[in-house]
Amino acid sequence: TRTFFVGGNWKCNSTVKSITELCASWKESTDNGAKYSGKPVEIVIAPPSIYAQTAKDALPANFQVSLQDCYSSTGAFTGEIAADMIVDMGIPWVITGHSERRTIFKETDEVVATKTAYAISKGLSVIACIGELLEEREAGKTLEVNERQLSAIAATVTDWSKVVIAYEPVWAIGTGKVATPEQAQEVHAALRAWLSTNVNPEVAESTRIIYGGSVKPANANELAGQADIDGFLVGGASLKPDFISVIDSYA
Ligand code: 13P
Repeated sequence: TRTFFVGGNWKCNSTVKSITELCASWKESTDNGAKYSGKPVEIVIAPPSIYAQTAKDALPANFQVSLQDCYSSTGAFTGEIAADMIVDMGIPWVITGHSERRTIFKETDEVVATKTAYAISKGLSVIACIGELLEEREAGKTLEVNERQLSAIAATVTDWSKVVIAYEPVWAIGTGKVATPEQAQEVHAALRAWLSTNVNPEVAESTRIIYGGSVKPANANELAGQADIDGFLVGGASLKPDFISVIDSYA
């Protein structure tokens, strides 16, 4: 009952030319019978915000657009983009709490939770990201860290139908070091159990928990086969024509 979800996070990459070419290639695959065509899957691409409209115009029809972050207010906040504006531009999704926001831009659990709740209150759907650092995993703190981050988000969420949780172990992001299907499944199952206990069993059953970190066509099938992995958030491999194979992994 959980519709498979594949997100592509382009991060701070792309040009008008690269977007036009990539989207043309995806359209061609879609028209030529990519396996996912006609099956229930949700596909969401997050370009750099300045290219959101470029991407929206160029993407295949069933691809939705997301931003990579938002701000939780309009007003005198130079450089920020408020969730209100994302809604105004007809963009349905936003990512919050990506590890690069947390680590490089020092966003705390509370900031991430505030942005998540604000985005939902304005009508956006949110891909809320959590994940442990390598040293936290090595110290045996994987579940503790992920549950702390999820708990901060859960404390502010009222409408879970608007939330996808992305588990992205930081040591697997952009490193080529993918979590094994067993490592990922273990955390996904623990997060679902946490939701069941701390929110309710219905939310645990219906909320998509997707995996991110070095997902590519060669490893997507095995990960997609795990019981509690409901899709992916893909970085580097979402900038390539064969991202279509990652989408096809569930089909
Ligand atoms: P990579 O797929 O490049 O490892 O990035 C994952 C990610 O951070 C997606 O948000």
